[in-house]
Amino acid sequence: MESIYNLKLNDLENFLINNGGKKYQAAQVFDWLYKKRITKFKDMTNLNKETIKLLELNFQIDELEIVKKQSAEQTHKYLFKLSDGSLIEAVLMMHNYGNSICVSSQVGCNMGCLFCESGKLKKVRNLLPSEMILPILMIEKDLNLRISSVVIMGIGEPFDNYLNVIKFIEIINEPKYLSIGARHITVSTCGVVPKIKEFSDFPLQVNLAISFHAPDDKLRSELMKINKVYNIAELIDSIKEYILKTNRRVTIEYVMIDNVNDKDEQAKSLAKLFKGLNVYINLIPYNETSDPSFKKSKRIMQFYDILKKENINVTVRREFGGDIDAACGQLKAKEVNE
Ligand code: SAH
Repeated sequence: MESIYNLKLNDLENFLINNGGKKYQAAQVFDWLYKKRITKFKDMTNLNKETIKLLELNFQIDELEIVKKQSAEQTHKYLFKLSDGSLIEAVLMMHNYGNSICVSSQVGCNMGCLFCESGKLKKVRNLLPSEMILPILMIEKDLNLRISSVVIMGIGEPFDNYLNVIKFIEIINEPKYLSIGARHITVSTCGVVPKIKEFSDFPLQVNLAISFHAPDDKLRSELMKINKVYNIAELIDSIKEYILKTNRRVTIEYVMIDNVNDKDEQAKSLAKLFKGLNVYINLIPYNETSDPSFKKSKRIMQFYDILKKENINVTVRREFGGDIDAACGQLKAKEVNE
């Protein structure tokens, strides 16, 4: 049965109107689900019996099973079981400015980036909006806290599951309910150009991050299969178009791998590509995985200095969760195949 968490407020309003209910009842249901966190329709005491029956016949209020939880000081990694038995991961990070969650968008991933653990599992299926929302609700309940920002940077390529990701963003952004501000939501893509173009028309002020990782096509195609489909020139054109349309700054992610993409000349080429564009480059220390061919760069600060000198906005990402395999690119839902 369909999860109620797949519905936007507007979807539920339409459902009620078309099935003998009242439009305003949708707001009541959302209030129970997202504010009071009720998990049974019959506990929604301001609804009449007919509406409760109607909802019960058509939707379920589901939960996810927490299969495993690993915690380090400010990081908690969760493994959840979905109704079909698939496993997904989410990571909660506690910052002094609030709590953020990193959610997955697919079971497995087909992008096959060479350095990434998540890509070693083939994509099994897309996640539904409810399957991205439930980790938020489950973790908030488990840790008794509120999550204020969401990054869609877990397993999967969000722009390979575009419609569900958009719906997920719309639901969590819904004012009065979870109400996670658009500026507190970030979508990261490996560079699916047509979807970047489509996303530039999305009305919410969500942050866009691009996994860039290499300053020339030869290296980028070696590291990231997607570059063989949409090369650097096409990717940068789509970023320019996005900035022009939205007037928003784009994040360029650059994972720093020892002896692969961390040389001075590469920093200079990278600077040349982005000079004058409204972007900031986020240097990500490579999190070492089970693959011994990739190591963390020892030249992050030299690389940083070159970009700075070229007047590029640049930051180094703080490392989180490496000790519990919860860092970027380490998510893999290990239990699946180990
Ligand atoms: N598919 C999307 C979402 C995944 S986000 C994307 O590619 O953007 C995960 C981010 O972590 C990406 O920038 C990815 O390239 C990066 N990453 C992957 N493996 C990593 C690792 N071992 N260490 C650090 N970052 C890694």
